[in-house]
Parts: sequence; C-alpha cells; structure tokens
Amino acid sequence: MYAEVILPVPVGRSFTYAIPAVCADIIKVGCKVSVPFGRNKLHTGIVLSLHENPCSNAFEIKEIRELLGSEPVVGEKDLRLWEWIADYYMCALGDVMKAALPSAVKQTGNVKVKKELHVKLADRLFDKTALNETFESLQKTPRRYALLRKLVEMTSFDTAIKLNNRNLIRQVSRAQLLHESNTSAAVLLGLKAKGIIEIYEYEVLPQQNSTGSIVDMLPLSDSQQKALDEIVNIHSHKSVCLLHGVTSSGKTEIYIRLILQMAAQGKQVLYLLPEIALTTQITQRLRRVFGDEMGVYHSRCTDAERLEIWQKQRSDKPFQLIVGVRSSIFLPQKNLGLVIVDEEHETSYKQQEPAPRYNARDTAIMLAHIHNARVLLGSATPSIETYHNTTLGKYGYVKLDQRYGGIMLPQIDVVDVQDLVRRKIMNQPFSPMLEQEMQQALEHGEQVILFQNRRGYAPVVECVQCGWIPTCEYCDVSLTYHHEDQKLHCHYCGNSFPIPAKCPNCGGHDLRSYGFGTEKIEVEVHKRFPKARTARLDLDTTRSRGSYSKIIDDFAQGKTDILIGTQMVSKGLDFGNVRTVGILDADTMLNRPDFRCHERAYQMMAQVAGRAGRRNRRGHVILQTRRADNPLISQVVNGDYISMFQEQMLQRQQFYYPPFYRLIYVWLKHRNEVVVNKSALMMTRLMQQAFGGGVLGPDRPAVARINMLHIRKIALKVAASPRVSPTEVRKKLRTIAEQVTSVPGLHSTMIFFDVDPL
Ligand code: ADP
Ligand code: ZN
Ligand code: ZN
Repeated sequence: MYAEVILPVPVGRSFTYAIPAVCADIIKVGCKVSVPFGRNKLHTGIVLSLHENPCSNAFEIKEIRELLGSEPVVGEKDLRLWEWIADYYMCALGDVMKAALPSAVKQTGNVKVKKELHVKLADRLFDKTALNETFESLQKTPRRYALLRKLVEMTSFDTAIKLNNRNLIRQVSRAQLLHESNTSAAVLLGLKAKGIIEIYEYEVLPQQNSTGSIVDMLPLSDSQQKALDEIVNIHSHKSVCLLHGVTSSGKTEIYIRLILQMAAQGKQVLYLLPEIALTTQITQRLRRVFGDEMGVYHSRCTDAERLEIWQKQRSDKPFQLIVGVRSSIFLPQKNLGLVIVDEEHETSYKQQEPAPRYNARDTAIMLAHIHNARVLLGSATPSIETYHNTTLGKYGYVKLDQRYGGIMLPQIDVVDVQDLVRRKIMNQPFSPMLEQEMQQALEHGEQVILFQNRRGYAPVVECVQCGWIPTCEYCDVSLTYHHEDQKLHCHYCGNSFPIPAKCPNCGGHDLRSYGFGTEKIEVEVHKRFPKARTARLDLDTTRSRGSYSKIIDDFAQGKTDILIGTQMVSKGLDFGNVRTVGILDADTMLNRPDFRCHERAYQMMAQVAGRAGRRNRRGHVILQTRRADNPLISQVVNGDYISMFQEQMLQRQQFYYPPFYRLIYVWLKHRNEVVVNKSALMMTRLMQQAFGGGVLGPDRPAVARINMLHIRKIALKVAASPRVSPTEVRKKLRTIAEQVTSVPGLHSTMIFFDVDPL
C-alpha cells in the first residue's frame, strides 16, 4: 500500500510513500503523517490518497516514518478544494496546504482543547406547557425559581420555543450563570437533582465569549423584505446570487435573516468580509444576534486562536457562523449551507503574495459547489465580472436601490481644480468649497471624511536645481517622504532612508517635496482648523493589533471630527454623523496604467461617497479633479453604475480583456537582469509557439525591480470560449516554465503564474 502525501513545499503535487505494516489498517485520507523528505529531514504532511500502484519512476520510494493520529485532520471535501486551488491558480499543492492549515496543525504533536462547564435546561422543557409547569412546581423555592428564570433569559430559551428553533438556544457557562443570578452552587445542584437542568462540558474559545443573550432583530423595511424574498427564491434554483444594494441600504440585516434561516436548518454559514470591514462594528452587530454561535477569523488572530477555531469547526459543535477574511475559506466545514461574500468587488479578496494567488470570492463559489451550498455576493459597486455573470443569467440578481430609512444618496459636487488653480483661488489641497463645508460641519458638531489615496507626507521629492529624484536602493521606484520619522520610505520593500544633506547629483542643497499624502493632509487640516480633532487611517497608523478598531470606534463615537485616510476609509464602514466627504484628488485614481483603472476608481469613489449622510440626513461629497470632463466623473456623480459597466465592457471587448478573455500573467524574477531577460525571451517565444497571438510581452513592469530582484512580465490572453480548455492551457504553461528552468544558467529564475490577476 502507498500513500500520496502533500508536503508544505513549493513544488509538485504530492509525493509517494510506502505505508508501513503497523499502520496499514488505520491510515486514512486526511491523516497527518511524518515523512522523510530531501536530505532525510522529517516533514509533516497530509495524506491525499491511498493506492496500490506506485508511479513507475526511478526514484526509490521511502516509507512513512510515523502516523500522527488515526483521525484525519483534513476532510475529503477540503482536500478537493485544495486540489482545485492548486490546479486553477497554478501553484503547488504544498503552497495551498501552507495557506490552509493553522501552523499548529502543521506541526507535530497534539493540541489541547479548553473546556468549561455549561448549564442548559433539560430537553423535555422545550415546550411551553412543560416549562410553565416546571416554574409552578418551583413556587415554594424562590431561589430555584429565580435561578431558572435567569437561565431561561440567558439562554433565550423562551424565544427559541416561540420560534420553535433549538438553534437559537444560547450557551451559558456555569460561572456566568452563578455570577449573574447571584446564587450559590447549591441552588444549581438542587435544580440538577430534579432533572430540570443539565451541566455539561463545553469546548470554549476564551476570547470569543460573549455576553449577549437576546436575539436582537430589527424589523426589515419593505424593500429589504422584498430583496430577502427574492434572494431566497433565486437560491431555490440557482447557486449564486448577487445582491446589488446601494451603500447603506441595510444589506447586513438581510444577511442576518439568511443566516438565521440556515441555522434553523442546522446549516453553517461562512460570511466573508475584507479585513478592515471586519472591525468591531460588524462583529458587534452580529454578536448581538448570534452570540457565541459565531467565530471571528481575521488575519491578526494568533496561532492559538486560529487553531481553536479550526478545531471547533472539526468538532461536533462547530460555530453556526464564521465571520472572516479571505483565508477563512480554508476552515473545515461540516454542513455548509451558505457563503456570503460581502463587498465582493474588493481586491483584498485576491491574495497577491505568496502562492496560492487565489481569489477568495471565486474560491468561495467552488467551496459552495463542493458542499452543495448557496452563495450570496453583496456589493453597492459589483465587479464587472460578477455583474456580467448576472446579465448572462449565470448568477441571480437582486437589486436594492434605496437607503435604509429613506435617506437620500449623497449629493456629489465636482470641483474643477484646473480652473481654480488657473484663477489662483485654490489653496492646496482644499478647494474653497471643501474648506467651507468642513468649517460648517465642525460648527454643527458633524463629521468629515477626507479621502486621499496616498500615504506618507509627500510622494515626490526633487532637487530644485537638477531635478534629481531619490529612489530606493533595492527597487526601481521613487521614495515617499514621511514626516513622522523624517525619512524617505520605499512603499514596495518597506525600507527607509535618511534624507541626503545635499543632492548626490549636483551637490545642490534645495531638495523640495511635492504632492500630498495623508500625513500632509492632516498637517494642512491642523493649520486651518487648529481645534479639530483628527485621526488618520492608513497603512502607517494601523500596523499594531487593535489600531484599526480604535480609530474607527473613536470616529463612530464622535471622539474625532475629521478622519483622513487612504482607500481604507471606503470599506464598508458605517458612521452615523458624517456630513461631508472630500475626495481630494480623483486624478491619481484615473491615471493608472491598468485596464481595471476606471472600474476601481468608480468603486473607490462611490464607496467613499457612501460613507456620507447614512443615518440622519443627506450627506454631501466634494470631488476634486482636474479632469472634470472625464465621463467616469459624471458616472460617479449620478451613481450610474450601468453606464460605467457598459462603457468598460466595450473597452474590455475591444482590447481583449476579461470577462471576454481569460488573463494569466507570467512573472519572472531574478537578481541578475541578464538572466531574467533571457528567461523572459525564451518563455515568450515558447508561449507564442504554443498559443499564438494571445501572448504579450515580455514587459518591464512599471516597477521593474523590487527587493533587488529584476522583474519581467508576460501576459497571456485566452478567449473565454469553451473551445480552449483552460486545463490544457495551464498544463502547457507549466511545461514551458519547466523547459525554461531546465536550461543551464536559467534554472534559478523564479517563474510564477497569476491567474485572473487583479
Ligand atoms: P450597507 O451594508 O448596505 O451599506 P448597513 O447594513 O450598514 O448598510 O445598514 C446601514 C444602516 O442602516 C446601519 O446603521 C443599520 O443599522 C441601519 N439599518 C439597516 N436596516 C435596518 C433595519 N431594518 N432597522 C433599523 N436599522 C437598520
Ligand atoms: Zn541636484
Ligand atoms: Zn524598495
């Protein structure tokens, strides 16, 4: 007998090992094993399959050293998803394993689960009459009576009876119950002796405990109810549905209903969100409904936290609801009913580095397919691909075009910066209109969001005499000045450098900085509004754990007046008191050399605008641009998604881009520019022989060297027609890459693929 074993190495698929006789009867697919690999180092791997025919290659087949536990740690369906990812996104199965398993599962040895004592009502009391009779029988023992009352309240037992849904019963720990009811353990034991309650062991996640005990449901508005009904209807015959709901239309409440419906059927829900939207705001709202039936999985979870959620999901009592970031698609699933992908257009669903370079939205659709579950994609600004799929009828479509509470979408005013500068009345970076609006908001105790999609202080530093621009030592990119540490930073490799005392080119002493990053905007705000309390939300202010949440909570609670940020301020955040949103410079978003540039610019601007005027009254957005006549600007102003979509579709068709063509980028990297050039040329030639005209390149990308590695890029466009088998394309590409790296001198070129790049 032999086993195919997945190892956490970035090459190949799986590796064949012989199964020693001692474990031949107990080894199963998904089990963890320890095997010798390479220079007889031991690695931990996962059994992918068992078989009797070793591939007849020349290698000597080694034996599994040890079976680490007889129970599988990965389910068969999870393995199917891993294989799909490795195949579709063209990476090693070991890369997927590394991304999927919490590090503690990858390591050898077993892990302990923490347990605590919980209390519940006896099952026979799940009946109105039985419960009432029990209460009556306790009339003469008031302390027992009171304790049972408290337990009913804390477990939401009566609500669960009313809705005839046991899944709504909440977990209550013995300690919590005794504390809140202020009674002694003796009273509790008295109830236990009478068979009214049960005490049992419960596996807990310490940091995920909650106190909420009421199912806190808001009545849906008519349009929310209608959208909900439509989604349920579509899901009865289609697996994927898009909820296209404008900002602040109350999509979350609809998700909550769908999750409850799934819970009532004993099914689980995976709710994906971009990292920043997963702050306390949304988790608190969901916590009020789902209490400790909900697990939260974000990228800042510690290894121990990851492991606990992982184990809980493999136990008999998994969380009904997991709210998480893209990597939560790898959590084990028992009985998955629904995957919600909120803000489905978000680019952060795509992992850029390292492999697997997967898109969690698209992978979620495959995950749901494997489990026969449904998918709901939600967005106010859907991705072109998703909307296209609804027009083809592949996905269902539900529209919600009213904000909750009848609040109007914000008024968007365009300010032509070009004109103001010409007339010398623009006091950078704020137009008079924006400055006046900010003034008024502050006077009325209302809030302002300023959006500038550049961090740091000044994006351009230049020698006044000769025009020399400081660049990174390790990357081919100019440096950004940061005021905080008074250094020049590289936004690609993260290194920082001191400001040169004089220009290394001409010896001049006048180095000037131009342009505005978020840091400088904050300084300018302080100059004009010294009393305003400001906060900045960008990569630099959110490096530590908890810093996102603090900045967002402070703003939500009115502790700050003006929030300045990069695109981070646009992501699904809900603030009640924002009167004004300033988009300081739309042009940087419109100028990027990328076929998705306009789609992204629309999404970013519409989303950030959507933070204005959500609860009380109509908000106001001021959009500053030098390109006021660009059609995209009026599409944003009118909230005209459809025009943006149609225009982009025309362009995509004309220039052979997705969704008409599938796109795969081939990236080549090497420290030596000569080597990378040679490899790229050979790769391109072979690709052209295999695929013909759809091959573009090799290109020097805009940043052609990062961290000392020279980079080349080749694009492959394949018609998205059924005549060309994507599997064949991927197979050929892999073979070609192997051909290139088998050439002496080129073997150390790093070649990797980015499928469906963003
Ligand atoms: P979206 O995600 O569509 O932008 P949210 O779900 O954040 O919108 O809802 C916007 C605001 O409206 C939130 O403050 C939310 O609490 C409120 N809201 C939505 N639906 C309801 C409802 N049915 N009852 C009361 N408040 C609601
Ligand atoms: Zn100079
Ligand atoms: Zn650098």
